[in-house]
Amino acid sequence: MKITPTQDWGLGLGSKIVISGPCSAETPEQVMETCTQIAQHDVHILRAGIWKPRTRPNSFEGVGSIGLKWLKDAGKATGLPVCAEVANVKHVYDALRAGIDIMWVGARTTTNPFAIQEIADALQGVDVPVMIKNPVNPDLKLWIGGIERIYGAGIKKIAAIHRGFSTYDQSQYRNMPQWEIPIELKQHLPDIQIICDPSHICGSRDLLAKVSQKAYDLNFDGLMLESHITPDKALSDAKQQVVPESLGEILRGLVQRQPQAENALADSKLEILRDMIDDIDHRLVKTLGERMKIVRQIGEHKRDNNISILQSSRWRELLVDRLAQARSLELSDDIMKYIFQMIHKESIRHQTSVMNEVITN
Ligand code: PEP
Ligand code: MN
Repeated sequence: MKITPTQDWGLGLGSKIVISGPCSAETPEQVMETCTQIAQHDVHILRAGIWKPRTRPNSFEGVGSIGLKWLKDAGKATGLPVCAEVANVKHVYDALRAGIDIMWVGARTTTNPFAIQEIADALQGVDVPVMIKNPVNPDLKLWIGGIERIYGAGIKKIAAIHRGFSTYDQSQYRNMPQWEIPIELKQHLPDIQIICDPSHICGSRDLLAKVSQKAYDLNFDGLMLESHITPDKALSDAKQQVVPESLGEILRGLVQRQPQAENALADSKLEILRDMIDDIDHRLVKTLGERMKIVRQIGEHKRDNNISILQSSRWRELLVDRLAQARSLELSDDIMKYIFQMIHKESIRHQTSVMNEVITN
């Protein structure tokens, strides 16, 4: 299916769209206060979650339809369009009735073709812009499928939101950005606008500025950032929300570089490669940490059995084995030998500390 979205949604939006507002609408005052304060900054669309899809039951699941009015009132007070997440047919009808200007489909809904098709069917014949978040799992086809289903319902004002992908591994991110996936989406659907959602990627507010800048450097079309007047008291996603003033600071700090058409692809490629390097380095350090844990266990065993730390024959064998592997990967003998000497040195330091119960540098 060829997707040719209408980029101008008739809402007077510029080239970079900034969407902000609370993760969840909690009270009329919280929505109004947050929205009127963020409207002082460079925000173009207000957001609030009304029905919250939570991973575990018994968490705050949103205030429900009543919150649509609170959001709409904030829109009227600020003169800004408002958007909310819809996850089923009832949500679509309630949002349309309340005059919500833009809807978005959440990451959990995009994973489910039945759910997204039902939403698409409910939107038949309606002229409302819809943004589709990536599915929680890194599946580009599922994301494209969700976009196709909504587009197939006749919705031409359409955009994608990149909110990262869940991972079982420990990471500095709540959801891994895997920038190569939205970049690949753009290769498949060159006319689609992609908004980055650093809040759900980062999961903590200290990373937001960095990820927002990266999204701009990768030529994303805008940002969705969660904000709250008292983030630490938020009923959902407390750690990643920012007060309006911090939002302003993040937005003011963003550098907008001109995308140089002939270099944009090359730049993106460099970013992807560097990201891969960062990832590999983090894994390297993690692996070294794991190695040292085992080394300490060996240290305890040696201490308890009165064995000396260094067995030269074991060290020699290990080095021969690792250098042979390194050679097969075209890594320099000298450098790999040096690296292993350093690793061995650190291992001895750990074992010595186990023997003596104090770390010696
Ligand atoms: C949200 O935007 O608050 C939300 C629930 O996001 P996601 O669907 O990306 O998890
Ligand atoms: Mn949220």
